[in-house]
Amino acid sequence: MNNLKSYCDRLTEKTIMIFCSDCYSVSEVIGNDNLIIHNLFGGIVAGKNEQDMSYLRHCIEKEFVSQIVFVGHLNCQVLKHLIDDASDIKLWEEARSYIEDLAGEVVGLNFGLHDGGWYLMHRHVALQVKKLSGIPYIREKIERDKLIVTGIVIDDREPNLLEETDLDLFENLNFKLN
Ligand SMILES: [Zn+2]
Repeated sequence: MNNLKSYCDRLTEKTIMIFCSDCYSVSEVIGNDNLIIHNLFGGIVAGKNEQDMSYLRHCIEKEFVSQIVFVGHLNCQVLKHLIDDASDIKLWEEARSYIEDLAGEVVGLNFGLHDGGWYLMHRHVALQVKKLSGIPYIREKIERDKLIVTGIVIDDREPNLLEETDLDLFENLNFKLN
């Protein structure tokens, strides 16, 4: 069965796993020696997450990490809140406009509600993996085959559900639609 715990048990090298701040499933994998757990607000790599990002850099550079796995989770209340939020909090501006664009894109593709949630999260994970991979010191490690950045989506209400993210899924979908 592909679930988060068995996925993490199969890890043989030091891995940073990036979770969204409201993902319950973190508790299932705490204690795994190969794992460094990192939280980001909404699972979003953003300039405003400066402190989080500098700790992430420390882990990547000092802990001999060979893999980063982005974990998207269904039913994310942070992303939902950002979509519904009518406040004017500047700190969230970047994250809010990102998630609005993302939701608009997925609605445009007209999936059913259930599939829509999975696609939105896979798309989110794929975009964040790309964003992270583009940060110069990370890109340099990827190019030297010292680091892999990848992503998964889990349903943390149903711990048995885990899908690996196809990083090019949406590029292929858009191609098909055009
Ligand atoms: Zn979340």
